[in-house]
Amino acid sequence: MRVLLVEDDEPVAESLRRGLTRYGFEVEWVTTGGAALSHRDPYDVVLLDLGLPDTDGLDVCKALRRRGDVPIIVISARSDETDRVVGLELGADDYVSKPFGVREVIARIRAVMRRAQPRTPEEAAAGPDRYGSRLTIDRKAARVHVDGEEVALAPKEYDLLAFLTEEPGALMSREQIMEAVWDANWFGPTKTLDVHVAALRRKFAGIITVEAVRGVGFRLEIVKDAEAS
Ligand code: CA
Repeated sequence: MRVLLVEDDEPVAESLRRGLTRYGFEVEWVTTGGAALSHRDPYDVVLLDLGLPDTDGLDVCKALRRRGDVPIIVISARSDETDRVVGLELGADDYVSKPFGVREVIARIRAVMRRAQPRTPEEAAAGPDRYGSRLTIDRKAARVHVDGEEVALAPKEYDLLAFLTEEPGALMSREQIMEAVWDANWFGPTKTLDVHVAALRRKFAGIITVEAVRGVGFRLEIVKDAEAS
C-alpha cells in the first residue's frame, strides 16, 4: 500500500516513514502542500499535516478532495477541535493529533481503507484473533469483544492491548512498549503507561493479567478458563 506523507517536520516524518515501512507500507514523503498537489504517482492514502510551510494544510485537503476520493488522514499538532471539524468537513476521512504512535496511525489507515474498499472474502473469513474462549481482538476493525460484547477502549488502551497480546507471556520492556504504542522517539516520563495498564487490568479483570516486572516492564497473560471461574 502506498502512502503519501505530507509533513514538514523532519523527525516526525522520519519516524513515521520508518514505522510505516516496517509494517510493509511504501511511503512517499513530501514536505510542502505544493509538492503534495503536484505529486503524480498514484497512492492509496494521504497523511496530511496541517501546519505546512507554504500553504494551509486545510486548503491542501480541500484541493485533494476535489480531485478524487483517495482517503485523507489529517495529522496535526493543533489539538484544536475547530481544526478537526473543519478538516472533516473539507473531506478528510480521519484525524490524528500529535503526539501519536505509529500503531495508532496504522490503525487509522486500515480503518479508512476498509471504509473505502470493502473487505475481500479472504479477509472477511480470517475474522478476529481469539484469546482463550472469551476475548477476541479484531485487528482490522480495531475492536475488542469479551463474551461477544464490545469493550469500549480509548485509542491508546486499544493500542497497548493490541501490542501486548501479539505475544502473550512475553516480557516487554517499558521502552519497547513506549516506542510501539506512543511514539518512536519517546523520552518523557512513562507514568502514562502505568495509567493505561491499570485501565486494561480493570476492564479485562478475569480475562487477562498484566504483571509488572520491577525495573523491566510488563508481561500479559491470558487467564485460563478454569482460573477465571
Ligand atoms: Ca508541520
